[in-house]
Amino acid sequence: MSSTARCILHVDMDAFFVSVEQARHPQLRGKAVVVGGEPGGRGVVAAASYPARAYGLRAGMSLTVAQRLCPHAIFLPGNFAHYRETSERFMAMLAHLTPEVEVGGIDEAYLDLTGFDALYGPPRETARNLKERIRKELGLTASVGIATSKVVAKVASDLEKPDGLVEVPLGEEASFLAPLPIGRLPGVGPEVEKRLRGVGISTIGQLATTPAIHLRALLGVWGEVLHRYARGVDTRKLAPPPPAKSISRSTTFPQDTWDRDFLGATLRYLSERVAAELRREAKWARCVTLKLRYADFQTISRSRTLKGPSDSEEVIFAVGQELMEGALRQRRCRVRLVGIEVARLVGGGWQLSLWDRSQDRWKRLHQAMDGVRHKYGFTALQVGRTVRLANSFPQVEGDYLLKTSCLSR
Ligand SMILES: [Mg+2]
Repeated sequence: MSSTARCILHVDMDAFFVSVEQARHPQLRGKAVVVGGEPGGRGVVAAASYPARAYGLRAGMSLTVAQRLCPHAIFLPGNFAHYRETSERFMAMLAHLTPEVEVGGIDEAYLDLTGFDALYGPPRETARNLKERIRKELGLTASVGIATSKVVAKVASDLEKPDGLVEVPLGEEASFLAPLPIGRLPGVGPEVEKRLRGVGISTIGQLATTPAIHLRALLGVWGEVLHRYARGVDTRKLAPPPPAKSISRSTTFPQDTWDRDFLGATLRYLSERVAAELRREAKWARCVTLKLRYADFQTISRSRTLKGPSDSEEVIFAVGQELMEGALRQRRCRVRLVGIEVARLVGGGWQLSLWDRSQDRWKRLHQAMDGVRHKYGFTALQVGRTVRLANSFPQVEGDYLLKTSCLSR
């Protein structure tokens, strides 16, 4: 790769949630495994192993359909805490290579290694070493694409999954993309693909040779962007990590319920999870939002601004509980889902001394609680209220397995 060309890697873990389960439970390796929950429930497939995909299983498909297509599949509820922890270790490996990392999702990221040849040798070698480290330390495989732009690197990483490594040399971007079906191009979703196929465009090469003005007429401004992508032209820089805008936790219940104590206990647990996450990120929240979905799928949310920013489950839960009581008074209907979100986050810590010394005691208490939970699992410490959840949610390694744990984080 010439010194003026950029060197972008797209690193994408293979069947991530399922692979984490297989790394933890080797007896699942090579089998049709689905993460998302029990079939017959309300969930959807969050991830499917490659043997399961051979039966047509895809992320987002209802679990009931998934089971019909692949009756022998092993269905797992999933544990987002494990996936997040593995993801953090994966991202730390990437950050070790270069500070220029753009996180594309829990299991994928772009790296800009432009000018790193002298330090690391050819990028293909760096990619191979990285894959080896991921395999050794996480027990997982990743696919890597190397190219002069984000869009081409992403197509390349996807091309030979799982455990792929594809490098597209400078000057060969357009000829690399040309024979591939348009669905492979990032930004071509099912709707755009339908429209393009409707006018006879089925390969990326055909897209590249269609006059931009036609694509603009068909797809608006996006048509022009896709026209550039199809020719391998993409000058986008890696985006710096965005600050977290909100943190939320929610769960769907196994059965719709109007048991107030149970709803309160669940809300308390979710508030604890949100607060622990706030403290982990050293953030305080200024706004709390309660979300309820009723049995008839009507969904409401109620927000309140806090008197001062907080990272305390006591504060978050008290506000959430008040909002929930108000909502339940207004409408008597069974509840299907409850969730809590905190937003308008500010950096924590230094504000403490500015506005309320009495928070010190809570801070010490929370630090002690977070320490115990980190060591022994989240449910090692419970307030009286949440103890009854043990009868409703299964527990694994010191944590509740919520019905929508993978999807609601
Ligand atoms: Mg992936």
